[in-house]
Amino acid sequence: MRCEKDGGLLRAEYRSRSLTLASLPGIWTFIDWLPVRNPSLHGGDRSATYHSKGLARELNLKRLYVSFSGYWPERGAFMRTCSFKELESAPTLESLAESGGSDILVLASAGNTARAFAETASKTLQPVLLLVPNTSLDKIWTTVEPGRVCLVGVKGDYSDAILLAERIAQEPGFVPEGGARNIARRDGMGTVVLEAATVMGALPDHYFQAVGSGTGGIAAWEASTRLLKDGRFGSRLPRLHLSQNLPCAPIYSAWTGSAAGNEKELYGCPSGMYDDVLFNRSPPYAVPGGVRDALIQTNGEVYGITNEDAEMARHLFEETEEIDILPAPAVAVAALIKAVESGSVGRDETILLNITGGGLSMSMEEYPRYRLPTSFEAAPDAPAEDITRTVREVLGC
Ligand SMILES: *Cc1c(COP(=O)(O)O)cnc(C)c1O
Repeated sequence: MRCEKDGGLLRAEYRSRSLTLASLPGIWTFIDWLPVRNPSLHGGDRSATYHSKGLARELNLKRLYVSFSGYWPERGAFMRTCSFKELESAPTLESLAESGGSDILVLASAGNTARAFAETASKTLQPVLLLVPNTSLDKIWTTVEPGRVCLVGVKGDYSDAILLAERIAQEPGFVPEGGARNIARRDGMGTVVLEAATVMGALPDHYFQAVGSGTGGIAAWEASTRLLKDGRFGSRLPRLHLSQNLPCAPIYSAWTGSAAGNEKELYGCPSGMYDDVLFNRSPPYAVPGGVRDALIQTNGEVYGITNEDAEMARHLFEETEEIDILPAPAVAVAALIKAVESGSVGRDETILLNITGGGLSMSMEEYPRYRLPTSFEAAPDAPAEDITRTVREVLGC
């Protein structure tokens, strides 16, 4: 998962240079550019892009497109856990299965990622260990009967869970999920741009997304690069417009040099955030192939968004587009509003707004919710062997 020379992100090179859509369901339409050969077809929904009318009129934009990842059947979006983390869970679990691995996948998450992996793994019946801070345990549910998923509450925050996951993943029989370094995760998220480009007929001029780790931003850049080489989707990379929630905004701080989001400000994060899924203490920023490279290559921008801005943007979006969204994508909507005000995007340019999660109310109405039981709690410094032994017992492997 790391280039030996400089620690950079590895990138997949696919045999086909042009994008051929496969007649497979959901995300597997893009199998040409996913590290997957024979998907089991359990799970694997894709995002859905549509031409905005309501918000576009409000902001006076002619070519605003919304990429929706969540549950909105009328628009063709069927992710029942309601976030674009499902674009990562399906290809990751599929590629793990295809590599013949029966190891237990280890994952640290503060919410949406754990939910997506729990849902997908419950369909594919692959064993997964989720390490989730105690305060986030109530966010972990599935809409299908839970499968071989072991949920462990970590006495600490998300960073503690990440460190514990790194230690456990080194034990025999366990495999790290890899985060931003995992090609399956990035190329899964990259399908947002592939799907949008097939609907729009071209790459957008601008791409808006709220980020924590920035993995989605890197993925959008990589997918756009592949589409440029294809040749049918235009000749310019979309500009990345990434947004973070102030003051818990290390990417914003690193890119703009602003004091907001610096080490001192990060003390106390993520409490008080508009959405704590947008917080990652050490994002893959300066690593080769990471967020900084993506911003440089695309002439990108990073926005710092206050809770008040996000709240206003969320109301505006929900009223004009008539769907509920998760708090995180409201941060991207707020960034779009700022960009329109500052003239950073033109009224006639093509804009892709990535609504990374939404439709929770409809998903809750239509599907049952299984709260995942917590198997046990662990201290961040607990010996890895103690944990792995208990996890094996729980999962029966
Ligand atoms: C994780 C998440 C994000 C941020 O994703 P990155 O990994 O930083 O690209 C944005 N929105 C939602 C709903 C998320 O769950």
